[in-house]
Amino acid sequence: MSALVIAIDGPAAAGKGTIAKDLASKLDLAYLDTGSLYRAVAHAVILAGGDPADDADAARAAETLDIEAIDQTAIRTREVGTAASLVAAKPQVRAQLLETQRRIAKNPPAGKGGVVMDGRDIGTVVCPDADVKLFVTASDDARAHRRWLELVKSDPELTQAQVLADLTERDRRDSERATSPLVQAADATLLDTTNLSIEAAIQAALDIVGRR
Ligand code: C5P
Repeated sequence: MSALVIAIDGPAAAGKGTIAKDLASKLDLAYLDTGSLYRAVAHAVILAGGDPADDADAARAAETLDIEAIDQTAIRTREVGTAASLVAAKPQVRAQLLETQRRIAKNPPAGKGGVVMDGRDIGTVVCPDADVKLFVTASDDARAHRRWLELVKSDPELTQAQVLADLTERDRRDSERATSPLVQAADATLLDTTNLSIEAAIQAALDIVGRR
């Protein structure tokens, strides 16, 4: 039997990760945060003193990425988030990471019957044949507020307006790029989490999966 794939796409800070992680745990599936791969490539470029907007620097970091060695704390900063959307616009970076993501989707870790993947292009490009596709979104203000709550812990000077500006710029870049732009797949179910608690959003996602 082929592995089950649940694809969860949407803009930054819409709740994809929280929903995907919880679905994976409840359904005993593996979880892959594909944004962490783009963040890790961006982080490697920054650490090497390179420029995330430079084609060669970004391509080199993607080729040498070791997904087992990703520093999950260091990649969560604002700087890395912005740099991730720059490297993610590069076709060479996307081609490299596409292989990695498809390999994981086809071969989930031992004991898991499938994988929940969250990102921007899972339902459209990485796994167009996914068993379930969700497009998770929320208003700009709700997303900025949630992300601000996370980031302000390590950056007390940060304002919600700055976070909103970052997210708006990142969403614009993700939606307007030529290769694999952020877009809802025609067969994805839309889930707007603006007015939902975390629990209600997870329940809504479970209901969608259950209906499929
Ligand atoms: O999901 P997260 O916000 O951590 O993703 C960081 C960046 O990685 C996004 O802004 C986007 O540019 C890129 N990304 C992507 N395709 C994915 C996942 C993330 O282009 N499947």
